[in-house]
Amino acid sequence: MSYDVAIVGGGIVGLASALTLARETGARAVVLEAENDVARHQTGHNSGVIHSGLYYKPGSLKATLCVQGARALYRLCEEEGIAHQRCGKLVVATAAEDLPRLAELERRGQANGLAGVRRLAAEEIAGVEPHAAGIAALHVPETSIVDYPAVARAYARRVEAGSGRVLTGARVTGVRRDGPGLVVETARGAVACALLVNCAGLQSDRVARLCGAEPGVRIVPFRGEYYDLAPERRSLVRGLIYPVPDPRFPFLGVHLTRRVDGSVEAGPNAVLALKREGYRWRDVSARDLAATAAWPGTWRLAARFWRIGVYEVRRSLSKAVFVHDLRELVPEIRPADVHRSGSGVRAQAVDAQGGLVDDFHIVRSERAIHVLNAPSPGATASISIGERIAAMAAEALD
Ligand SMILES: Cc1cc2nc3c(=O)[nH]c(=O)nc-3n(C[C@H](O)[C@H](O)[C@H](O)COP(=O)(O)OP(=O)(O)OC[C@H]3O[C@@H](n4cnc5c(N)ncnc54)[C@H](O)[C@@H]3O)c2cc1C
Repeated sequence: MSYDVAIVGGGIVGLASALTLARETGARAVVLEAENDVARHQTGHNSGVIHSGLYYKPGSLKATLCVQGARALYRLCEEEGIAHQRCGKLVVATAAEDLPRLAELERRGQANGLAGVRRLAAEEIAGVEPHAAGIAALHVPETSIVDYPAVARAYARRVEAGSGRVLTGARVTGVRRDGPGLVVETARGAVACALLVNCAGLQSDRVARLCGAEPGVRIVPFRGEYYDLAPERRSLVRGLIYPVPDPRFPFLGVHLTRRVDGSVEAGPNAVLALKREGYRWRDVSARDLAATAAWPGTWRLAARFWRIGVYEVRRSLSKAVFVHDLRELVPEIRPADVHRSGSGVRAQAVDAQGGLVDDFHIVRSERAIHVLNAPSPGATASISIGERIAAMAAEALD
């Protein structure tokens, strides 16, 4: 089999890249996915939010690609008839120390061009979310919810309807040079290509090394665990209710999220996963643990933030602690109202100094492009990330 571009990873970013590459460069692309279906990892275990772009530093890739990507995603959902709902988000300040952060979010929202963002006083909160409580809030009407696996399947159908292919059960195990191109070894045979695009999510640093590149970061897997609100208590939440994030850890802080199927999810927390695709505490991989432990950045990160880490583990093990934190946002929630549901594992790139890479991180090596950090809002931004990769690929193929 021979293609212009081989894309490793059939998550939402790999599929969006295949789609935009074909559209913008005319290249024949193949998506090589290890699992037996697309969207099995981060894409299939996320919160289903189409983010508006509120949180991100103006001018960052996250800010630009989230805002553009959301617009493109709405268009695709309309064309494909994929259910989505503009239910809006409320970011709630519950303590005085949240207020300067809330003001900064409002400033970022304006700088990122969001429409309709409104600051609410404590007594106005109930007008948007009758059961939420706080000392102030930001209402972001543009935020929506969607079914991302359905979006990923739509991308895959479009890729196959064009000149591309999506090969599942095709784990990539090796990459070697062959004249001016590459030969990619997969569980379904060898694939020749001129360029490789690495969208392997939780395995992206390893795939980069298979290509002979030193990524300079390691993927450290953080699991986020969710609870579901009992059906008879779903009326406590109309849309999305979030705490004000800690800028050092934008992904921390449990929130309440309505989903397109009408259920309401609470979570996620963030604990170190003992396996890259480790969705439960009992999923352990000696190889993955050794890789995490061998990276100096892991220990530097742990030394700085061990207190937060210990708290997250406590909250993972104790429903009472979890519910206590949810009640900060919606005081009427009781332990009997929630039950454990699924989890997702974030592919977080950590540098050697122990820094959590915040922005999307996409780099080139010889004959390859690597997406080494595509955390939230990566699903929202997927089409725009794909367009960026298509532009880099066009340059590389020239
Ligand atoms: C808990 C959680 C909540 C989130 N919530 C949101 C949200 O509400 N909104 C939002 O916009 N974003 C959200 N995100 C982020 C979003 O899910 C990700 O940005 C996005 O899914 C990344 O897509 P991906 O294609 O890079 O990764 P993935 O979906 O993980 O896909 C990578 C693929 O590569 C495959 N692969 C790995 N190694 C190989 C190999 N050797 N050979 C072949 N294939 C391989 C894997 O099987 C996998 O299918 C959330 C993430 C998490 C974890």
